[in-house]
Amino acid sequence: MRITIIGGGPAGLYFAILMKKADPAHRIVIYERNGPDDTFGWGVVFSGKTLANLRAADAESHAEITKEFEAWDNVDVVHRGEKISIHGNSFSGIARLRLLKILQRRAEELGVEVNYRSEIQDFEPLRRDCDLLVGADGVNSTVRLRYADRFQPNLDAREHRYIWYGTNQLFHGLTLTFRQNEHGTFAAHSYKFNKSTSTFIVECDPRTWERAGFAAMSDEATRAYIGNVFAADLNGNVLLSNNSKWINFLLVKNTDWFFENTVLLGDALHTAHFSIGSGTKLAMEDAIALAQSNSLEHFTSTRRPVIETFQAAAFESMKWFENAAQYMHLTPLELAFSVMTRSGRVSYEELQRRDPEFIKRLGPRGRL
Ligand SMILES: Cc1cc2nc3c(=O)[nH]c(=O)nc-3n(C[C@H](O)[C@H](O)[C@H](O)COP(=O)(O)OP(=O)(O)OC[C@H]3O[C@@H](n4cnc5c(N)ncnc54)[C@H](O)[C@@H]3O)c2cc1C
Repeated sequence: MRITIIGGGPAGLYFAILMKKADPAHRIVIYERNGPDDTFGWGVVFSGKTLANLRAADAESHAEITKEFEAWDNVDVVHRGEKISIHGNSFSGIARLRLLKILQRRAEELGVEVNYRSEIQDFEPLRRDCDLLVGADGVNSTVRLRYADRFQPNLDAREHRYIWYGTNQLFHGLTLTFRQNEHGTFAAHSYKFNKSTSTFIVECDPRTWERAGFAAMSDEATRAYIGNVFAADLNGNVLLSNNSKWINFLLVKNTDWFFENTVLLGDALHTAHFSIGSGTKLAMEDAIALAQSNSLEHFTSTRRPVIETFQAAAFESMKWFENAAQYMHLTPLELAFSVMTRSGRVSYEELQRRDPEFIKRLGPRGRL
């Protein structure tokens, strides 16, 4: 089979690896617009369940990935300066670049042809020349745009703004920090992903964003402002920028997932709000599902229900963060409970199982 993949992110690389493993006779070519060492993004997180899926799909890359991992079991919620830890949540973090390097090496070892610095604009000749064209070209997918009449995408740019930073302050666990100032409410999502660096994502609502005057602020001034909001949490460490810019989260859905020999994968196909830390996980699990399918119809019918359930939970989580200001009157314990149960996937009973001590401190209030 001749397979052409647009995009060498986690979805495209992992799909190439799995297909080449299944049959070394496949001719697989990836076109990636960036170079192999371009550093976009900070860390990515995986749950324990995702790791089990990755191990079953490809033990070799799983071993490499987990060698580099920072693992934790606590979610920390910081409100009014008080930290509430909730245990029993298994997560791990790795640098996005490190993950890409592992997948790039594995793909090349298996004989996948990866063409870096190759931005594709014209897909028709490639499409005609292969058995399967995979659009794994991320959230702003040009494959999706080019064939919009076939995929019929539904794109919802949310009003909330967020920005990805890094920091050398180490957050041991997924830490959700809420801070308020005269301009409004800010939430930070942070976790360490190697021995010296943490991801630090900050979000705020559009009113707060305007009042703070971010539109006219330089990168340096923005970092200084946010560093000041989270001064008590950053412990003197500065925020590190990696071409970091304020982004509106784009919720992506597609009516049709494929046509003829062309299919979308990963962020090009669907997004789930970063507050449930799942973009990379979903991209790689998409690759597993597509590699295990005997047709594109089969891929769509088996994977779509999984994605819809996930997107529904992610939507609830996103709404919670969009309305975070409304919850600031809660005590730190109450807020921690509200955060933990925001997507509807974790109940009072489940929290009791994961961390009885937390529920004991909360008392029966959480049931209300
Ligand atoms: C810049 C950036 C930073 C991110 N940082 C984080 C993070 O720190 N933590 C986290 O959890 N998630 C992060 N994400 C989100 C997360 O990485 C995605 O959910 C996940 O990577 C989805 O994987 P993917 O392979 O579908 O898409 P992507 O990882 O976006 O990969 C798509 C690839 O396609 C390439 N491409 C796009 N158009 C073309 C074209 N026309 N021709 C050739 N190549 C093309 C892009 O260069 C990119 O490498 C980030 C995403 C991006 C784009």
